[in-house]
Amino acid sequence: MISTAASNALRMAGRRAATGSRFGAARLSSTAASSQQASNNKNAAILATTAGLVAAVAALQQQEQTNKTQNLFGKSAATAVKETEEKFGAYWPRNIMILFGPPGAGKGTHGPKIEELLGIPALSTGDMLRAAVSAGTEVGKKAKAVMAAGGLVSDEIVVGIIRDRIKEDDCKHGFILDGFPRTLAQTKALDKMLAEEGACVTKVIELEVPDSVLEERITGRWIHKKSGRSYHVKYAPPKSMKKDGAGKAVAESMKDDVTGEALMQRGDDTAQALTKRLAGYHNETVPILTHYQPNGIVKAVNANQGMDGVWGEILAALKRGSA
Ligand code: AMP
Repeated sequence: MISTAASNALRMAGRRAATGSRFGAARLSSTAASSQQASNNKNAAILATTAGLVAAVAALQQQEQTNKTQNLFGKSAATAVKETEEKFGAYWPRNIMILFGPPGAGKGTHGPKIEELLGIPALSTGDMLRAAVSAGTEVGKKAKAVMAAGGLVSDEIVVGIIRDRIKEDDCKHGFILDGFPRTLAQTKALDKMLAEEGACVTKVIELEVPDSVLEERITGRWIHKKSGRSYHVKYAPPKSMKKDGAGKAVAESMKDDVTGEALMQRGDDTAQALTKRLAGYHNETVPILTHYQPNGIVKAVNANQGMDGVWGEILAALKRGSA
C-alpha cells in the first residue's frame, strides 16, 4: 500500500508538471514568443516533474523501511512483542527476588521502584494481611491481634497467601517478595513450592540498617493507605504538614501529596511493638540469609544513607552477576 506521504508527493509531482505545461502553452498562444522561451518553459516543466518524482520515490522508500520494521519476521510489531513475551513466560526462568530487611529498612519505599523497573509485581504479606484485617475476612480476624502486638502471623496463613498469589498471571515472569519469608519454616515452604515447578529464589537484596536508627524511622512514619505511599515527619514530610507549638506534626494536617487524602500511622508503628518486631527479625528472620548465602544470591545494600544512595546500590545489586 502506498503511504499518504508518497501519494501526496506523486500528486504534487503531477500538479507541478501540469502547471508548467499550461504556463508554456499560454505564453505560446498569446504572444507567439520565441521558440527559446517555449523551450525554457518546457525545461521548467520537466524539472518540476523530476523534483516531484524524486520526492515520491524517497517517500516510497521510507514507506518500505517502515513496512520492514512493522513486519518483523512477517508480523506486525505488536504480534512480535506478544510472541517474545510468551517465549519469556514459557522458556526463561522466573525472576524471583526477596527484599530483605528489618521493619523500617525501606522495603516499602524501594519495592515499588523495583516493580516499575523490572515489570514484575512486589508482593507484601504485610499489605495483604492489613487488607484482610480491614475487610474482616477469616484470615484478617486471626491476624489482627498478633499484628497489632508486633508478633508473627502463623506460617500456615502466610504461606497459604503467597502460594495463591504467585499463581496469578502477573507473576508469570517473576515477583518481588517484601516481608516474606520471615521464618526458616516459611523459607523451606517457599523453596518447596517453587521447586515443584523447577523454579528457585534468584536474588536476595538485604537492606542493612542498624537497630538504633529504626525507632525514629518507624515512629515518624505516615502512610497513604490506598497507594502505600510512605512519608516521614522528618525525612520525607508531606507538603501539607503543619507543626504544633512543641514542634510535633499536627495529625489533621498530614495529607497525601498526590490525592490530598488523609495519611495514617500503622497501629504497630510504635516503639513498644517495634521492640518485639526487631526481636522477631533477629531471631527468626536473619537466619534466612545463612540459608541462601551458599547459593551466591545474597547481596547486601547499605540502607542507612540517603534514598538516592540506597537506590544506586539496589540497582547495582539487581544486575546479573552482581551477587
Ligand atoms: P510488614 O508490613 O511487613 O511490617 O508486616 C506487618 C505485620 O504483618 C508483621 O509485624 C506481622 O505481624 C505480619 N506479617 C507480615 N508478613 C509476615 C510473615 N511473612 N510472617 C508472619 N507475619 C507476617
